[in-house]
Amino acid sequence: MKILVINAGSSSLKYQLIDMDTKSVLAKGLCERIGIDGSNLQHTCVMKGLDKKKIEKPMKDHGDAIQMVIDALVDPEIGVIGSMDEIGAVGHRVVHGAEEFTESTVITEAVMKALDKCTPLAPLHNPPNIIGINACTKIMPDVPQVAVFDTAFHQTMPPHAFMYALPYECYENDRIRKYGFHGTSHKYVSQKAAEFLGKDAKELKIVTCHLGNGSSISAVDGGKCIDTSMGFTPLDGVPMGTRTGSMDPAVMTYLMNKGMSAKEIDNLVNKKSGVAGVSGVSSDFRDLSAAAEEGNERAKLALDMFAYQVKKFIGAYAAAMGGIDAVVFTAGVGENDAATRKAIVSGLEFLGIKIDDAKNDKRGTVDITADGASVKTLVIPTDEEMMIAIDTERLAKA
Ligand code: ADP
Repeated sequence: MKILVINAGSSSLKYQLIDMDTKSVLAKGLCERIGIDGSNLQHTCVMKGLDKKKIEKPMKDHGDAIQMVIDALVDPEIGVIGSMDEIGAVGHRVVHGAEEFTESTVITEAVMKALDKCTPLAPLHNPPNIIGINACTKIMPDVPQVAVFDTAFHQTMPPHAFMYALPYECYENDRIRKYGFHGTSHKYVSQKAAEFLGKDAKELKIVTCHLGNGSSISAVDGGKCIDTSMGFTPLDGVPMGTRTGSMDPAVMTYLMNKGMSAKEIDNLVNKKSGVAGVSGVSSDFRDLSAAAEEGNERAKLALDMFAYQVKKFIGAYAAAMGGIDAVVFTAGVGENDAATRKAIVSGLEFLGIKIDDAKNDKRGTVDITADGASVKTLVIPTDEEMMIAIDTERLAKA
């Protein structure tokens, strides 16, 4: 079955067409500037090994964008399918499924209504996801559409892990609790880790570290998430590219009392903070490493803060699970930054975690465990699109 995976943002739309029989990406691309001047589609025909092609054409809305994607997919030159009928199902990334969605689901009218109820919790992200679903349903009314949520994998967290110690009414009335994000990635790499180790996921206690521009750590016990570092929003947890991660919430009220507005604080903690804010250099770990090597103390401080907080989560989650069998690194930093991986695990030898420097320098899916260490440390490239396609195929066939 061929699955079209859609990740719709407010003015962009990413897509991949995946052949599930061969587990290969046939084509992928991105529509940019939807609804604004300079709309364009960047399409790569992977199957024929062609270079990326940029097509500039006005797209007034997501419907136009989806139509352009389909036109590109069936194009005799840059396309990969004969007609739209070859698309077996469409999988949509949806950011927030709140407590309504504990797993991926086939889209129906009832599902669309339930999705609307989740929107207040992700007012920037869910609306474009919904617009993408509506656009696809209109163009492909007979093709099953599936929603895959960033939050769903974390819905197995027990209340003692997801509740905040606010008055209970805050949870009941305003749904304030920990939700967690990057769930599709944590699910994918934890399943891949079990496969790689030749074990049943049910037997394993894994800490998955999704370290990218946004970062989150999850405790996956027996294949189920029991805790994760992001919270009510993706601001919580470890410091990120431009986000603070956890800090004393009273900092916010202190700044408000000094005269900052909610909007200004929101901007400060989400866009101006993190390793970029501390270093004053960049949110990109490559720039930070280069600056630290040249003696920039604040760049070094930002990297040290990041590694320290990730290390603490690994320790905390080993305690939460009553043991640990594997640590998995993934996403931009987790997959590529050997020095940061090393800084994170150094000092965790007492838990049985130790990596081999030579293995740590390799790329791809690798076991970087040092000889004799009792806990496996793995690097597994994440593939959220593939995870979405896997769930979509399973549900479309059912
Ligand atoms: P996002 O959270 O936006 O999906 P990614 O997972 O793609 O982000 O991660 C992007 C980040 O990965 C970059 O900002 C950069 O800090 C980091 N990164 C990518 N490649 C490398 C590398 N070779 N060395 C160190 N860091 C890297």
